[in-house]
Amino acid sequence: MYDIGIIGGGTAGMTAAIYGQRAGKRTVIIEGTNFGGQITSSTNVENYPGIASVSGSEFSMNLLDQAMKLGAETVVDQVSTVTKEEGMFVLETSEKAYPCRSVILATGVTHRHLGIEKEEKLVGAGVSYCATCDGAFFRDRDVAVIGGGNTALQDAEFLSNYCRKVYLVHRRDEFRGEKSLVKRLEEKENVEFVLSATVKDILGESMVEGLILHNKKTEEDFQIEVSGVFVAIGHIPQNDRFKELVELDEGGFIEAKEDCLTSCPGVFAAGDCRTKEVRQLTTAAADGAVAGLAACKYLAGE
Ligand code: NAP
Repeated sequence: MYDIGIIGGGTAGMTAAIYGQRAGKRTVIIEGTNFGGQITSSTNVENYPGIASVSGSEFSMNLLDQAMKLGAETVVDQVSTVTKEEGMFVLETSEKAYPCRSVILATGVTHRHLGIEKEEKLVGAGVSYCATCDGAFFRDRDVAVIGGGNTALQDAEFLSNYCRKVYLVHRRDEFRGEKSLVKRLEEKENVEFVLSATVKDILGESMVEGLILHNKKTEEDFQIEVSGVFVAIGHIPQNDRFKELVELDEGGFIEAKEDCLTSCPGVFAAGDCRTKEVRQLTTAAADGAVAGLAACKYLAGE
């Protein structure tokens, strides 16, 4: 029996484990794919207080190391369901069931897709959702980044170091991401902004060869030749499997305020998977601390 079962090994989940272990609780983190979460694909984190610059992968590996050294147990498996049974919760995976006295849902979010038919077909053949993972395959080639948030801006900057040309395609004429990043991109000779444009289709049958774009202002379609498309248009939650356990909002985020309490006593939600305004590395870490301590308080009063 674990005191705290944490679903999701990103920044929120690992921070919660650190707080749980330091409070003397037996903690397990169950992660479906790779420990680290979203931040691992960030080339350079420059807005975490006290750390001027660190790669996302180094940051998350340090966090994992810290949690494990404190005694947190780690499992790589998908939790399919969580059921409530007489004062405890059972976290079911394909391999095993983990009985826990409390649960922290820190499931993060997943990449939003463009929703174009060719997109799924050409994943790994030019379509990518991770510039840091796949950027090096496009050395000296022309690529497009889709999106206008910080991820798209960072991806465009990263790719501009490898690629011959980077088109940054955004559906509005103003970026959502930080002005300082936009300014750095404006100074890059091999980055071209394609604004007020949406992706209508991807060209190529077995490999990406280009994009058909639609200019929203002129209502005209036009083509660009690229061999890579990096989709960075935000993220969506994946909490459907918990909808019988906790309340979700209409977007699928777990209903929980800054105290990380959910509609089910003993179950807490931390990080990007819950309803919140700001989804940042700092707020994920903050949620991990709040949820970890809230779980300890719940266990003390059980
Ligand atoms: P985001 O801020 O939600 O931006 C998503 C972008 O994609 C927006 O520009 C949006 O356009 C566009 N978009 C959404 N749906 C689209 C569609 N169907 N077709 C075309 N474009 C679409 O997502 P993000 O950039 O992944 O960032 C998520 C959060 O993480 C943000 O809070 C961000 O600041 C943070 N982040 C932080 C760091 C860091 O700290 N180092 C790095 C990366 C991200 P509109 O602008 O028109 O809505």
